[in-house]
Amino acid sequence: MEFSLIDRIGAATQLRRDDVLLGMGDDAAVLQVPAGQNLVMAVDTMVEGVHFLPGTAPADLGWKALAVNLSDLAAMGAVPAWALLALTLPKGDASFVDGFAAGFAELARPHRVALVGGDTTGGPLAFSVTVHGFVPAGAALTRDGAREGDLVMVTGSVGEGAGGLACLRQHGVLAQDEGAIGQLLSRVRRPRPQLAAGLVLRGQASSCIDISDGLLADLGHICQRSGVGAELDADRLPLSDALQTVFGPEQACLYGLSGGDDYELCFTVPAARAHAVQGDLARVGCSATPIGRIVRGEGVSVRDARGQWIDLHSAGWDHFAA
Ligand code: ADP
Ligand code: MG
Repeated sequence: MEFSLIDRIGAATQLRRDDVLLGMGDDAAVLQVPAGQNLVMAVDTMVEGVHFLPGTAPADLGWKALAVNLSDLAAMGAVPAWALLALTLPKGDASFVDGFAAGFAELARPHRVALVGGDTTGGPLAFSVTVHGFVPAGAALTRDGAREGDLVMVTGSVGEGAGGLACLRQHGVLAQDEGAIGQLLSRVRRPRPQLAAGLVLRGQASSCIDISDGLLADLGHICQRSGVGAELDADRLPLSDALQTVFGPEQACLYGLSGGDDYELCFTVPAARAHAVQGDLARVGCSATPIGRIVRGEGVSVRDARGQWIDLHSAGWDHFAA
């Protein structure tokens, strides 16, 4: 399609890597996978009206399109290297493309991600990013290694993604990033993939997943793939002051359990190693909180502060109860 648009994307995202033998501009990219490494790949698509609200700032979209993909690499313990970008635009809008490319580059640059190609077509606004990264052969973190007795931990805090989305819907896409609401808004606009944490967890966590669909749903994936169950204590969930200030403790807890878009890592670790892992994560500036335990059986159960099991099938919880 429009070469000028593609050239603008190329100029805004330019980044040199020795393993890019041929980047944007030919029929395909030619890349060198380092010896002894496995190639780890992921792709995520975002469609206007489905994954983001119409009117969202182009730079935030560019950031987020890459962020959600880097989060998948973080969950695998991979170091990102390359990306492909498929852009579908309603009209050849240079200012949209410039904003999008700037937001994309703002996240790509510090993580040394080179945009090596893509596709640009006309149609309803949507974009799809493919990322590639490396792990030492056989060292990828997976969902299937959780074992009975392991602790369940999460990085950072949970629920702000869902809280931020609720604020966006209420205050509009142009709302200012100030105060407690601003903290939640910036979380949903510019999620930060936990790449440093993923590297620390390599060789330490027994399983790992990034929280995109919500803690219960995503931990449920670990349980299913590992053939185990999990018991969580709701009162141990790391909920930010901002989230609790804006929504109150109960709604905050609900968002923490079932809201999506957090892009934190949920992982399991043998109990004896949990303290050391927490220390290692702290050294890369990442907090981690134990929130429960892996048990025999299946599915995720949640205890409230009084030790009562919460009925996940009751009203309001239906959308994630199996
Ligand atoms: P072709 O018709 O051979 O697929 P295109 O005209 O679609 O080539 O693309 C030309 C070059 O620009 C290719 O190297 C392609 O990877 C790159 N490219 C196209 N769109 C994008 C985009 N949105 N982001 C990054 N690179 C792109
Ligand atoms: Mg071609």
